[in-house]
Amino acid sequence: MRAYPLEKYRNIGIIAHIDAGKTTVSERVLFYTGISHKIGEVHEGAAVMDWMEQERERGITITSAATTCFWTLARALQSASDEKEKQKIRETGEHRINIIDTPGHVDFTVEVERSLRVLDGGVVVFDGVAGVEPQSETVWHQADKYRVPRVCFINKLDRMGASFDRSLASIRDRLTPNAYPLQLPIGLESAFEGVVDLIEMKAFGFEGEHGEKIIEKEIPADMKEEAEKARATLVEKIAEYDDALMEKYLSDGNLSNEEIRDIIRRATIDNKFVPVFCGSALKNKGVQFMLDAVLDYLPSPLDIGEIKPIKGNDVKTGEEIIRQPSDNEPFTALAFKIATDPYVGSLTYFRIYSGSLKKGSYVLNSTKDNQERISRIVRMHSNKREEVDEFYAGDIGAIVGLKNTTTGDTLCDPENPIVLEKITFPDPVISIRIEPKTKADQEKIGIAMRRLAEEDPTFRVSGDQETGETIISGMGELHLEILVDRMKREFGVEANVGRPQVAYKETIKGESEAEGKYIKQSGGRGQYGHVRLRVKALERGKGFEFVNEIKGGAIPQEYIPATEKGVKESLDKGILAGYPVIDVEVTLYDGSFHEVDSSEAAFKIAGSMAFQEAAKNAKPVILEPLMKVQILVPQDFIGDVTGDLQGKRGRIEALGERANIKVIDAKVPLSEMFGYATKLRSMTQGRGSFTMEFDRYEEAPKSVEQQIIEGKK
Ligand code: GDP
Repeated sequence: MRAYPLEKYRNIGIIAHIDAGKTTVSERVLFYTGISHKIGEVHEGAAVMDWMEQERERGITITSAATTCFWTLARALQSASDEKEKQKIRETGEHRINIIDTPGHVDFTVEVERSLRVLDGGVVVFDGVAGVEPQSETVWHQADKYRVPRVCFINKLDRMGASFDRSLASIRDRLTPNAYPLQLPIGLESAFEGVVDLIEMKAFGFEGEHGEKIIEKEIPADMKEEAEKARATLVEKIAEYDDALMEKYLSDGNLSNEEIRDIIRRATIDNKFVPVFCGSALKNKGVQFMLDAVLDYLPSPLDIGEIKPIKGNDVKTGEEIIRQPSDNEPFTALAFKIATDPYVGSLTYFRIYSGSLKKGSYVLNSTKDNQERISRIVRMHSNKREEVDEFYAGDIGAIVGLKNTTTGDTLCDPENPIVLEKITFPDPVISIRIEPKTKADQEKIGIAMRRLAEEDPTFRVSGDQETGETIISGMGELHLEILVDRMKREFGVEANVGRPQVAYKETIKGESEAEGKYIKQSGGRGQYGHVRLRVKALERGKGFEFVNEIKGGAIPQEYIPATEKGVKESLDKGILAGYPVIDVEVTLYDGSFHEVDSSEAAFKIAGSMAFQEAAKNAKPVILEPLMKVQILVPQDFIGDVTGDLQGKRGRIEALGERANIKVIDAKVPLSEMFGYATKLRSMTQGRGSFTMEFDRYEEAPKSVEQQIIEGKK
C-alpha cells in the first residue's frame, strides 16, 4: 500500500547558480522538514546534501543525489491552536517531497539536464545582490526546454547591497515577463526581518534559534500601500488566465484567497506564470513559505501526466505508447543516475513513471534488452538509506547492485516492454593523458575508469596504443579535475596527469574518389581486397553514413560489412592530425574480388586504404570546439578584457550592462580558454567572473591548423 496518494507527491529540484545559496537552502529544507536536526554551515563542510568528500571541499554539488522529506503547509499549521490540532492537520495535509539535487557549475549542465528530465518542478534560487547570473540563464532555458514549472526564491536579502526589486526586475528582464511576487520583504540587508504575504495580506517574522517559530505581525504602516498595490497587480494579472474568474473579478472587484492560489497553481503548472518568493536561508527567514509554495504551486506527478504525458515506444513495433501516472499501469521507470556508494556499492537512481517496483522481482532493461533482478531498493534521505519493499508511481529511489544498467536506460515490466525517450549527451570537448606511476596503478586505473564512466555518460576513456597512456575526456577543465581527484581518492590510483588537450575533430569539405587495393599473391594463399569509394562532406552533426552501391556482384555481399569496418577504423585514425573524422558520407561503388584469395580481412584493409586516399583529396580540415562565453567585469577593466579576447580569436557578440557591471557575450575557441579563470582574475584584480559552455565545432583557421598538426596546440 502506498503511504501518500500521488497528488501529495512533489518531485522537485533546487536550481541555482553556484554560490546563490542552494546548499544552504537545501540544508534549511532538511532541517525544517525534520530530517536533519542540526543545521550545519557550509563553511564547516557539514552540509548534509554534499556527502561526497570533494564536493564538500569545493562547496559545490555534483552528483544528483535524491532526498526524500515531508511537509505540511506552514500556513495551515499556523492557524492551529495546539499540538493536537496540528497533528490532525498533518494527518491529512502532509506531502512527500523528493528533492533531486542539481549541480550548480556550468561544466555539469548535462547533469542539470538529466535531473530536469526526472523532476516535475523547480525552485530557482537567486542571490538577492547579484540577481540573475549567467548560469541561471543557461539553466532557466534548459528548464524551458523540458517545460518544468518553477517558483523563484530570491535569497540573501540580508546581504549588503541586496535588492528585491532589482533582482525581480532582472528575472523579468532576462528570464520571463511572467514572474510576479507573492511576497514582499520587510526591510533589507541587516534590517531584513520578514515577509508580507500578498495573498493572505499578513506579515510574518521568523523567530527562535533557527527561525522555526513563524510569528504573525502587523504589516508595517509604511508598506501597506505598496502591498495593496502589489496585490492588485497580481490579482489583475492572474485573472487573465481564467475568463470566469476575470468576470467575477470585474464585477466583485476581488477574488478569494483560495481562488487566487488555485489559478496561480494552474498557470504555474502550465508554464505561464512564475511566483516569486524571498528570504535569507542563512538567517533562517522565509524557507518555510518557500516549501509551502512547493505544495501550493508545483505539480504532482498526476498534474504532469496531464500536461506532459509520459511517452515511450514499443520495443518491437516502435509504436508510441503513453503511460498514465498510476500504480495500475505496467511498471515503467527511467534510470537517471548511477552512483558508487562507499558502503553498498553501485546505486542506480530511478524515477517510476507508472506501475510499481517490488523487491525480489525481475525487470527488463529495454534499452539494453536484458533482465535485471531487483534484490534491494532503498530510499535515500541524503545521508542515510532506508530499505523499502515496494516503490510506486511517482517515487524516486535507488536500486542496489544492478549490473548492466547505465544512465538513461529504461527499466520496465518484462511483459510490457517500452523504451522511454533517451537522454542525449554531448560529446566531450577536452581531454587529458594519465600515466600510471606503477604497474599496480595501471591495473587500478582500468577499474576506476570503467566505474567512473558508468556513472557519468559525458566522461570517456580511451587508450593511446603508441604510448600506453590512458586518455580521459570530459566537458571542461573542472569536470576532468574532479574525475582525476576521485580516481586518486576513491580508487587510490597514483598517476601523473598531463595538461588538458582540446578534443579536435576532422572532416572534409569536398568530394573525392579513390581506389584501395590490398593484393598479395606470391606463394601460398594470397590476399585480395579491392574497392572503389566516393567520399562526400555531410552537414555538421550528421556523423558517418555508409552507402552501398555495389551492383551485379562486383564484390560479394559478405565482404561489404568488412569494408565498412575498415572505413570506420580509418575514421578514428584521422586524416591530418589523428583526430576522429566526423560528418562524412562514404559510398562503396565498385571493386573486384578473387575466388580464393579474398577475405574479410583483405577487404577491411582495402576499405581503410581507399578512405585515407579519398579523404586526403577531399579538402580535409580540422574542427575545433567553439565555446559560448559570458564575462562579467566592472567598467574599468572592459578595455583590457575585450582586447585580450580579440587576441584569443574571440568574437564579441554583445556588450551589455547589468547593475553597473559590464556583460560581454562572446564566442571563443576552447584552446584559447585554458587557464582563463586565473588570467581574468589577474586582469581584473579579482573582480571579473565568467561562464563557458560548448557551442559547436567550427573549422580551425589554416595557421591554427598547422599548429595542431605539429602538436603545438
Ligand atoms: P551554493 O553554491 O549555491 O550551494 O551556495 P551555498 O549554500 O554554498 O552558499 C554560498 C555562500 O553564500 C556561503 O558562504 C553561504 O554561507 C552564503 N549564503 C547562503 N545563503 C545566504 C543568505 O541567505 N545570506 C547570506 N548573507 N549568505 C548566504
